Amino acid sequence: MKKSLETICVQGGWKPKSGEARVLPIYQSTTFKYDTSEHMGQLFALEASGYFYSRLQNPTCDTVAAKICELEGGVAAMLTSSGQAANFFAIFNIAGAGDHIVTSAALYGGTSNLFVVTMKRMGIDFTLVDPDATDDELARAFKPNTKAVFAESLSNPSLVVLDIEKFARQAHEHGVPLIVDNTFPTPVNCRPFEFGADIVTHSTTKYMDGHATQVGGAIVDSGNFDWALYPDKFPELTSPDASYQGVVYTERFGKGAYITKAVVQLMRDLGASPAPMNAFLLNVGLETLHLRMPKHCANALQVAQYLESRSDVSWVNYPGLESSRYRALASKYMPNGTSGVVVFGLKGGRDGVEAFINRLAFISIVTHVADARTSVLHPASHTHRQLSEAQLAEAGVPSDLIRLSVGIEDAADIIADLEQAFQVGQPG
Ligand code: PLP
Repeated sequence: MKKSLETICVQGGWKPKSGEARVLPIYQSTTFKYDTSEHMGQLFALEASGYFYSRLQNPTCDTVAAKICELEGGVAAMLTSSGQAANFFAIFNIAGAGDHIVTSAALYGGTSNLFVVTMKRMGIDFTLVDPDATDDELARAFKPNTKAVFAESLSNPSLVVLDIEKFARQAHEHGVPLIVDNTFPTPVNCRPFEFGADIVTHSTTKYMDGHATQVGGAIVDSGNFDWALYPDKFPELTSPDASYQGVVYTERFGKGAYITKAVVQLMRDLGASPAPMNAFLLNVGLETLHLRMPKHCANALQVAQYLESRSDVSWVNYPGLESSRYRALASKYMPNGTSGVVVFGLKGGRDGVEAFINRLAFISIVTHVADARTSVLHPASHTHRQLSEAQLAEAGVPSDLIRLSVGIEDAADIIADLEQAFQVGQPG
């Protein structure tokens, strides 16, 4: 039976058998018991499936991964300990020293740091492209050693709506997959696989959890990219893995090859495994994702319209606004709304920004976004502090940008808090 997104949010993943717990159990166990040595041996040879050690796999985590997989319309998925780990694994699973990745320049600051500082030190080279580049401009970024294209469906914090079909077209013309970080819109608002993306990643820390209770990540494979067509580009998937008695992932696991390799090889060796308790909390958040996202979007649109009406606000960017340059792309890729995140600038520049956010009352300054509670951040002073003015501009994050993550409180109360903060002279 084909289920709607709403039903998957509530019912996906855990399917208890008669007499089992109705609520997803937390398998708080590092290890799993077997009756025979032979059976355990088969697990290590990847000849049988089953759990043996929670660094690799855990039933609670896998059940939540299965729900996210169903929400995205994929064939296989895994959880990671953070969104950072998800993006790292998604790329490192198919690229190593000497390889090259094409990435949209409009990225979360932590991701851009991961790519151009840390992964560069591992020998992986990144070319940053303007997400609004033409096909020809994008094509020029590819090299013979390019292994993937990466982009955020709705970038944090610049709110660029990705032209997924354009990026997928270019990736596929060059024989590589498109990896899309779908954290901000979530599958409730955007389904990248339907537009040609091959792999989707998430920081589940954000809307999927929605209550700021756990840090986590997820990787989902659409199963659509045929690795075996490009054995020279992806030898780790298409030729024997010496660390598993010569298993060839594409031959043994078919459409599950990419996620299986990431679990049994990267999770085994790097160990960025999620805690079962965190997966449980994430699942509770997912059960209301379909209710929260529309409320976030409706509130954000009202707040964006209010900000746009103020003479002390120099600019507002929210893809749902008539004035947004991404309105057409948003209607195509995210017809039900984008997210609760609104960005804007104040006349008076950087100094004015700090004074303004200090005056907010219940809207809190937190290093977080996509929470049920409205929150605010000044990326140039906080998350993107490591970037120079030039890098800020390239990432689409001007230094006066205020990122407001509009929550699911009453929109009128959120606007009233902003209103009082605009009144100069109020106590901080
Ligand atoms: N991707 C996006 C779009 C993000 O906004 C973030 C964090 O803000 C991450 C990845 C990293 O996720 P995490 O903080 O869960 O490691």
